[in-house]
Amino acid sequence: MKSTEIIDLHKKYVMPTYAPGLVLVKGSGSHVWDADGKEYLDFLAGIAVLNIGHCHPAVVKAIQEQAAKLVHVSNLYYNENQPRLAQALSERSMGGKCFFCNSGAEANEGLIKLARLWGSSQGKYEVISMKNSFHGRTLATLTATGQEKVQKGFSPLPEGFKYAEFNNLESCAAAVTEKTAAILVEAVQGEGGILPADPAFIKGLRKLCDEKGILLLFDEVQAGMGRTGKWFAFQNYDVQPDAFSLAKGLGNGFPIGAVVAAPQVSDIFQPGNHATTFGGTPLACAAALAVIETIEKEHLLENAQKTGALFLEKLRAIAGQYDWIEGARGCGLMVGLVLKDNAAPLQKLLQEKGLLTLATAVRVLRMLPPLNVTVKEIEQAATLIEEACAEMDKSQ
Ligand SMILES: *Cc1c(COP(=O)(O)O)cnc(C)c1O
Repeated sequence: MKSTEIIDLHKKYVMPTYAPGLVLVKGSGSHVWDADGKEYLDFLAGIAVLNIGHCHPAVVKAIQEQAAKLVHVSNLYYNENQPRLAQALSERSMGGKCFFCNSGAEANEGLIKLARLWGSSQGKYEVISMKNSFHGRTLATLTATGQEKVQKGFSPLPEGFKYAEFNNLESCAAAVTEKTAAILVEAVQGEGGILPADPAFIKGLRKLCDEKGILLLFDEVQAGMGRTGKWFAFQNYDVQPDAFSLAKGLGNGFPIGAVVAAPQVSDIFQPGNHATTFGGTPLACAAALAVIETIEKEHLLENAQKTGALFLEKLRAIAGQYDWIEGARGCGLMVGLVLKDNAAPLQKLLQEKGLLTLATAVRVLRMLPPLNVTVKEIEQAATLIEEACAEMDKSQ
């Protein structure tokens, strides 16, 4: 099929929730190819999903072998891969237990339900989340999402959600009542425009939650799984949450999400409280186990720190040359070039030049390359951005 035929078929039969940009047919590492054979450097990585790159041989092998052995048994039976993955996540975080699901929104729903069930005996149910946050598109998670554009048209929204200002501890403290069960936060806001939390804010939140006897929950759906140079973004802040959510990078493209809970809330969910048919299949867990093994074997946390710092340095140098660029910010390989105006034209120009990025929060050019991106690929991307900015500057 030609690209035009695929696009026509898509428009006729797929709901227009997205406006896709390219027809992609093949991927390898940090590279993808479109239907016309054009190659792109993929610095979006399926929106922080392909953390070890497209079609990593370890994940391909794990999926192929497991698919031929046992795909799904339901959670009415044990399967070996599920506890092995739970152990791997637990040992790299707070030493508690996991619940597996299929997406980021579902993982955050799990966090919210966990907090409510935990608080139910004390009459606590409110969840405080941040303005400018993003937690998903189900009814509860879009309500937790502190952005009106995500909520518009879907009222009445579920009750029990309140909002505070990100990086403003006083605002969070002021929102806490005797009904508060939890505070939910991204250590680095992704959709909100690559905004890392201040260390004092995160430390202050932990203290506030301890003082008030409420749960601190992190949404690690985008920032987790090595993206920021640590397994989980909260580890950059030297705090422990009571529970956190994972999804995007966990299966490197194979859908899987998780709720990871610290020991004090590991046994809140009892049989009948929470469930999902597809959660933690042998196949999904095999993919995620291969991801964790590869991140460790190939030292990708270190690589994310190193290449992320290099990329940020290069972007800051570019930003310094133009008064229409505000600056660059990020954490590990979660990086944003912040313009003073709409970033969509720069995204489009870069795509023409063979670099995939994403304009986020209107004026932020968001980049999330695979954690095994090379120094050479970072340099190539920086050169393309430099060229594109020079061209944009002429037309300003
Ligand atoms: C993408 C994202 C979600 C939603 O994940 P889905 O898998 O699309 O449901 C939730 N939280 C954050 C921080 C995200 O980036």
